[in-house]
Amino acid sequence: MRRTLVPRMEPYVSSIFGEMSTLAAQTGAVNLGQGFPDTDGPHEIKEIARAAIADGRGNQYPPVHGLPDLREAIADHQQRFYGLTLDPGTDVVVTTGASEAIQSSLLALCDQHDEVLVFEPWFDIYAVGIDLSRARRVSVPLRPPAFRPDIDALRDAITDRTRLLLLNSPHNPTGVVFTREELQAIADLAIEHDLIVLADEAYEHLWYDGHPHIPIATLPGMAERTVTVGSAGKSFSFTGWKVGWASGPTDLIRAVRAVRQHLSFVSGGPFQYAIAHGLRMPDSYFESFRHGLAAQRDILTTGLRDLGFTAVESEGTYFLTTDLGPFTDYPDALALARDLPHRAGVVAIPLQSFCDHAGVGDAALRWAYCKRPEVLREALDRLGRA
Ligand code: GLN
Repeated sequence: MRRTLVPRMEPYVSSIFGEMSTLAAQTGAVNLGQGFPDTDGPHEIKEIARAAIADGRGNQYPPVHGLPDLREAIADHQQRFYGLTLDPGTDVVVTTGASEAIQSSLLALCDQHDEVLVFEPWFDIYAVGIDLSRARRVSVPLRPPAFRPDIDALRDAITDRTRLLLLNSPHNPTGVVFTREELQAIADLAIEHDLIVLADEAYEHLWYDGHPHIPIATLPGMAERTVTVGSAGKSFSFTGWKVGWASGPTDLIRAVRAVRQHLSFVSGGPFQYAIAHGLRMPDSYFESFRHGLAAQRDILTTGLRDLGFTAVESEGTYFLTTDLGPFTDYPDALALARDLPHRAGVVAIPLQSFCDHAGVGDAALRWAYCKRPEVLREALDRLGRA
C-alpha cells in the first residue's frame, strides 16, 4: 500500500461529532450531539454581512491579521467586559474560528519534547493540535461526578518540560465554569513554573445563574503569559461563519500571527464587518442571549432528571453532562451513544471520546441544549418512550 497519512494523525481520521451526526442523519434522530444552535443569531448582524457583500466590502482579501475595525472591536470588548487593555495593532489576531486560533497557538508555541497540560475530558481538536506540534499531551482528569479541577493532580503533572497549559472555561464538554479560587490556584502554578496559558474562552458569554466567566488573563501576573481565544460563532450564534480571534501580549500574539497567516491566510471578509458590530452590541443582547440558553438548559435538565438521569448542573456552555440514567444495559457511554439513535431516536456524545484515562468519562453523556424548546421536548418524549 502506498504511504499516505502520517501515523501520528491516524487516530484522527474520524471524529465522534462526524460519527454521531452521520448516525443522526441515517436514523432521523434528534441531534443533541454536535453543539450548534438551531436558531441563527441577531438579524442586525446578518444584515451587515449582507450589505457588506452587496457593497463590495470584504469580498477581496481583508488585512492579514484581521480587519482593523474588528481588531479594535475585540480590544474594546476585552476592555468593556474584563478591564483588559490590548493594542489592536499588535495584541489581537482574527482567525478562522476559535479552532484556528487554538491550532495556530499550539503550532507556534509548542515543539517536540514540550509537554502540554490539558484538563480531561478535553475538546477533541486539542489532541490533534498538540500532536501536530509534536508536543506531548499530559491530561489531568476533572474528577467525576462533579468534574471540578483537581489542583494537586495538576501540580503533580507539571515537569521541567511543561510548556503550556490549555485551559477551557466555560468547559466543553462538562458545562463546568471554573471558579475564581480554581483559576487562582491554576494561575499560581502557571506563574511558579513559568507556563504559557492558552485560554479557550469560546463560551465566554454562555454562563448562567451566578457562575460568571472569569478570564484567567485578568488574574494578577497572568495577562503577560496568556493567549485568550474568543468565538463569534458561539457568542453570536453564527457557527458557520468561522470568525474567531486570539488576544494577548505582543510577543505571544506575534508568534500566533506568524503561523496563522500561513494557514488560512485570511477569512470571511464580510463577516468580519458584521462581527465588529456584534461585539459592540449593548449588554442587553448578551444578557438576553444567556437567559434564553438558561431556559433551554432547564428544560433539558429537568426532563432528563425526570427520566432517571443524574445530571451535573450545567453552569455554562451549550452542554449538559449526565450519567447513563435508566440505560443500564450498556458497558459504557460509547456503546450507549452508538445505540441510542436506533433505540430512542436521539443522539448524545459520550464523554469517553475526550478522555485518556479510564473511569473519567466512561459513564457520562453530553447533551447539547442549544436547540429550540420543541426540539428538546421531542427528544425527551422519545427518550421517555424508549
Ligand atoms: N464545538 C462543537 C461541539 O463541541 C462542534 C464540534 C465539531 O463538530 N467539531 O459540539
